[in-house]
Amino acid sequence: MTEQNYFNVNYENLPSLGRYYKNGSSIKFRILNIRDLKFLAAINKDNSREMVNEILRRCLLLDKVKFEELLEIDRLSLVFYLRTNTFQLSNGYRTEFNCPYCHNKVIRDIKLPEIATRNIDDCFISEERIHGKVISAIYKKIVDNAYKTGERDLDTILNFTNCEKELKIVDPEDLLVLPADEYAKLLSVAERARCGVLGYVDITCPSCGRTLRVGIDLADETLFNKVSIVQMIKNRVQVNKYCGCDISDDMPYNEVEIMIAYVNELIEKEAEMMQKKSRR
Ligand SMILES: [Zn+2]
Repeated sequence: MTEQNYFNVNYENLPSLGRYYKNGSSIKFRILNIRDLKFLAAINKDNSREMVNEILRRCLLLDKVKFEELLEIDRLSLVFYLRTNTFQLSNGYRTEFNCPYCHNKVIRDIKLPEIATRNIDDCFISEERIHGKVISAIYKKIVDNAYKTGERDLDTILNFTNCEKELKIVDPEDLLVLPADEYAKLLSVAERARCGVLGYVDITCPSCGRTLRVGIDLADETLFNKVSIVQMIKNRVQVNKYCGCDISDDMPYNEVEIMIAYVNELIEKEAEMMQKKSRR
């Protein structure tokens, strides 16, 4: 097996700014290889969180910090690191919709760094008393239970406060029966502390020039570009035919991507030549 290169993750680019990790600790990553992508081909709604965590486990090289200690708020950013560097030719999201103001069609490729992110310097930790319990803001770790109920406020409360433990919340719905003022207190503690990738991007409509806020799907199953196994096999055969070399499972995908682009160029040129010949 070939050794892969590892690159440093700059703590300044993580929502936690690395403040919760030991002094002298470091996080490095490697680019996804073909084996990782084959593994990801089996991702679905039910296994997606585990699958993405497994990819993180494989691709991160941690020093003086354990995988279990990584914060949930950094998880998405780490995934984006992997995605941006692995799929260098196509790492963003394409969005297509009608502008609500001028009704013209907007098609835009969103690059990952454009997605709004808030870091802990823009947040603050506060507490409130509810039923005699001190409810305070917390940052959960990757190993903790991360809630994705689809209800933004519920998720914010469950993921950014200690209410689960203190108020003995078993089901997210339990929060909905709280008196309105208590619910509002919980939400304000959570909102003040909430940070990480925020899941939207502000873009300018090319027709009318207004700023539009577009939501980005951050579900685990869509975090990585999906490459189909059939496509991978086709690419392998073509690269072998045109370049005479084999794509191995250990090969980083960014290199494979370049090879495929090159082979496609060759195929196009070949087709052009054939056309010219047949015209003669
Ligand atoms: Zn518009």
